[in-house]
Amino acid sequence: MNRRIDQLRSALDAQQLDGMFIVQPENRRYISGFTGTSGYVVITADKAFFITDFRYVDQAREQCVGYEIVNQGNALLPTLADLLKRQHVKRLGFEQDFVTYGDVQRYKTLEEVVPGLSLVPTSGVLELLRIIKDDSEVASIQRAADIADAAFTHILGYLRPGLSEKEVALELETFMRKQGASGPSFETIVASGWRSSLPHGVASDKVLESGDFVKMDYGAFYEGYCSDITRTVVLGKPSDKQREVYNVVLEAQRLALEAAKAGMTGQELDAVARSYIAGKGYGEAFGHSLGHGIGLQIHEGPRVSSSGSDLLKPQMVITIEPGIYLSQWGGVRIEDDVLLLEGGEKRIFTHSPKQELISVG
Ligand code: ZN
Ligand code: ZN
Repeated sequence: MNRRIDQLRSALDAQQLDGMFIVQPENRRYISGFTGTSGYVVITADKAFFITDFRYVDQAREQCVGYEIVNQGNALLPTLADLLKRQHVKRLGFEQDFVTYGDVQRYKTLEEVVPGLSLVPTSGVLELLRIIKDDSEVASIQRAADIADAAFTHILGYLRPGLSEKEVALELETFMRKQGASGPSFETIVASGWRSSLPHGVASDKVLESGDFVKMDYGAFYEGYCSDITRTVVLGKPSDKQREVYNVVLEAQRLALEAAKAGMTGQELDAVARSYIAGKGYGEAFGHSLGHGIGLQIHEGPRVSSSGSDLLKPQMVITIEPGIYLSQWGGVRIEDDVLLLEGGEKRIFTHSPKQELISVG
């Protein structure tokens, strides 16, 4: 974690901050290694503090390497005031996007009791560090992707008419846990038949029927990191129209996977898939972004969308997930996770079969 703390200090220097107060759970985990659910991080120019209560003190001692662990008892503000005074912190950054109005009012009282202190709102400081993945993060995402791939192989042998979408989701999630996932990385989407036209149709009580598309978008959490995959299959024999729509999405995804490289913008990559789909007459039916970053959170930077000016860089991890959704008829999405590398290279994390529309059941 010490390299991450050094990087954070450089980022703070650039904003003339001599301290940072971190509350957002994934940011807190990233900078401290703490996996629990309650605690506060204060980083100063030469020290790192982890403030928590008695429930988490032992866990913090074990996980937060290089940190001084502070037991707040039942008084966060006096503990903070004391610490900031002792460290002579003057400009303390806080995460404006993750504190409530009430929190800010309370934290502001610190300015009255700590000489010379001002609280400075910041945005995206930790997130800009998190967007570049190191080798250990890449390894965790690969494991999360391997688990999702194994779950796809498993579910192909399970799908059959008569099951509800919820049963399919439960089977995917149970299988991933047995493979070592700590849970699903987001609420599992199983959308069949007409519901497959809902881009985010989480599993419902709808029963799978012969002829249905079954669109499954799911992922695993492993060591805190997410995978995110979508595959669409058909129950029984596909219609010509199902094949046609599937093949348009497949080719759009292939083109985008091929084009993806560090040095382009998210917008440019999005346009590769979007223009292909539009050229096939389905432009209106692809109403969401091509992809997004993944990491400790299922949606993080960079943006890979028609308005995403973010520059794609080596060691970023993104999804590529074009789709076509035709109301009341059905929809197809195909999604894989990609690591961008130096020199235009890339590595794809997910390898579940997709080369032709798979018919099951
Ligand atoms: Zn997804
Ligand atoms: Zn996704």
